[in-house]
Amino acid sequence: MNTEDILNMEADVLVVGSGGAGMSAALAASQAGSRVVMADRSLISRGGATVMAQMTVAVALGEQVPDDWRYHYADTLKAGRGLCNEPLARLLCEKGIDSIRLMDGWGVGWARDGNHLAQAIAPGHDRPRCVYVDYLNTGPAVAKTLRTQVVHDGRIQRLGDILIVDLLVEDGRIAGAVALHLTTGQRMLIRAPAVVIATGGLTRLYKRNSASLNMGGDGYALALRAGARLIDMEFVQFFPIGHLAPRLVGFDPIMWDPFRYKLGGRLLNGLGEEFVEKYGHAAEQEGYTVTRDAATYAILKEVEAGRGSPAGGAYLSFQHVPEAELRKAFGPIIKKLAANGIDLTKMPIEVSPIAHYHMGGIRVDVTMATDVPGLYAAGEAVGGANGANRLSGNAITEAITFGLQAGRSAAAYAQTLLPVDQARADTLAAPTLAWLAAKSPAPAKSPNAAALIVKLQDIMQTYVGPFRTEAGLEQALREIAQLRGELGDVLPAASTGPQDPMRVDALDLHNMLLVAEAVARSALSRRESRGAHQRDDYPGLDDAWVLNQTLSWRDGQWTLAKQAVERLDPALIQAGANFEQVGQA
Ligand SMILES: Cc1cc2nc3c(=O)[nH]c(=O)nc-3n(C[C@H](O)[C@H](O)[C@H](O)COP(=O)(O)OP(=O)(O)OC[C@H]3O[C@@H](n4cnc5c(N)ncnc54)[C@H](O)[C@@H]3O)c2cc1C
Repeated sequence: MNTEDILNMEADVLVVGSGGAGMSAALAASQAGSRVVMADRSLISRGGATVMAQMTVAVALGEQVPDDWRYHYADTLKAGRGLCNEPLARLLCEKGIDSIRLMDGWGVGWARDGNHLAQAIAPGHDRPRCVYVDYLNTGPAVAKTLRTQVVHDGRIQRLGDILIVDLLVEDGRIAGAVALHLTTGQRMLIRAPAVVIATGGLTRLYKRNSASLNMGGDGYALALRAGARLIDMEFVQFFPIGHLAPRLVGFDPIMWDPFRYKLGGRLLNGLGEEFVEKYGHAAEQEGYTVTRDAATYAILKEVEAGRGSPAGGAYLSFQHVPEAELRKAFGPIIKKLAANGIDLTKMPIEVSPIAHYHMGGIRVDVTMATDVPGLYAAGEAVGGANGANRLSGNAITEAITFGLQAGRSAAAYAQTLLPVDQARADTLAAPTLAWLAAKSPAPAKSPNAAALIVKLQDIMQTYVGPFRTEAGLEQALREIAQLRGELGDVLPAASTGPQDPMRVDALDLHNMLLVAEAVARSALSRRESRGAHQRDDYPGLDDAWVLNQTLSWRDGQWTLAKQAVERLDPALIQAGANFEQVGQA
């Protein structure tokens, strides 16, 4: 193999991904004295979900009304339907307070209500707890604030347009990564004793999703191939009120959530009737109260019963809200809606569930360490903290808090270690580098990976979506195997130039197929309905399933195991022992 055209780099800590989790990890590791490289397949801080977040950031600041992290923790566990990893949930709720105050100190611009931070109520929270940046500007503000801090830090090496293709493992320990510069096609080898995976979620696996293109679950595939375990992969959150109709340009499909936080809004079936109470939930007279898993279930069951809206969802109506109130809450947005021909005082819009977030992910302990020494994970890439269903607003708090923790842990781990030497790294990287450089079939003979991705998204939506059955999940696994056969092992190449979208599609699809299989296998194994995992053939909760599932993948073989949910002693939490005493237990 010719290694001359390979760009070699070295770091103490390599952070993969530059969303909220990645930037937080990079900052913490750099401040702890590590040499940090942060690589992202997109522009730094501008890809992934963080920059898209709309409004809520859940944290028990007690600014709007008295609050305590223990109440937030109790709500998180309740929403997680018994499956939350309690040390991780506790880290999120308790240390989340410091993270969100830190962001405030960095000038993120949390909305204020008089002389305190404004906190909105969101479903599943027992009190107003979500800070935000008006108007639908939370994600961009969080991303910009962290980006500014990264720039001020001055020592973090930022590499945009870099796809991390695979991790290097030496004697069971992390040794670095192989990467591809997407614009030039240049192959890279990055030596690092510690790597933080902060690649976000997997919702691109689904046909109807709120994701950007870079959310195909790369981090889960990287972790699996490196020998780490995943946890609770079956729990994909469908956001119930994704925009469906009429056509809407220039908005995110989940934009109606903030409207519901501020204005309530009525969820109606195709006959104009309120329906959530039919499914065992209190009618939403007091505003927006039904959690995401429950609302998704209710909407899809109404559609199944033939009571959906014309486009196949439910109506969301703000017609009862006076125009002045609408304008006060969403002034500039109301104007943009008018440009789309939408007047909320006169018409309802149609909404339906859309794949949005992943509760499962890479299994970590409370230091964010995986099973593989040197490998850490943070943010949505991590599984377990939110159990079977996530509360609104927990994800941004999770991204920043877990990111900071992962950065600190990775830096402490890397402190006494040198990167593996170049010759050894060349040997470890050789198979992947050779794969990336291999002569491929003529484009005409190459599989059309983009078309296969669309097929996969259809399969996942149909068989591994909000409602699942044994027959459907088995069908999904057969079709995933078939797609793998069609894709083959050799990477295709376009005939023109170094920038090679066909090759990137194929790399993406390799990962997406592995991750899709992980979701389908876990879903097939869990024979009950809990939170975001609803089995038509096993309706209802089953106490025998109050456990987590882990998955590992070695030499093409899957191992699925059940494990007890990690709990904390409630007596210690009531007594107020601090995180260091309880969380590390
Ligand atoms: C539309 C939308 C609205 C949301 N609104 C809210 C909200 O209001 N409140 C809330 O709490 N949560 C919200 N969420 C969820 C929340 O935004 C995410 O869970 C959170 O931002 C995830 O942060 P992260 O840093 O883990 O991942 P991301 O922000 O997704 O960042 C992952 C990064 O990894 C990069 N990457 C991926 N693979 C590779 C690879 N192989 N090599 C290199 N780089 C790679 C990506 O390019 C991306 O930049 C929303 C999500 C969406 C999609």
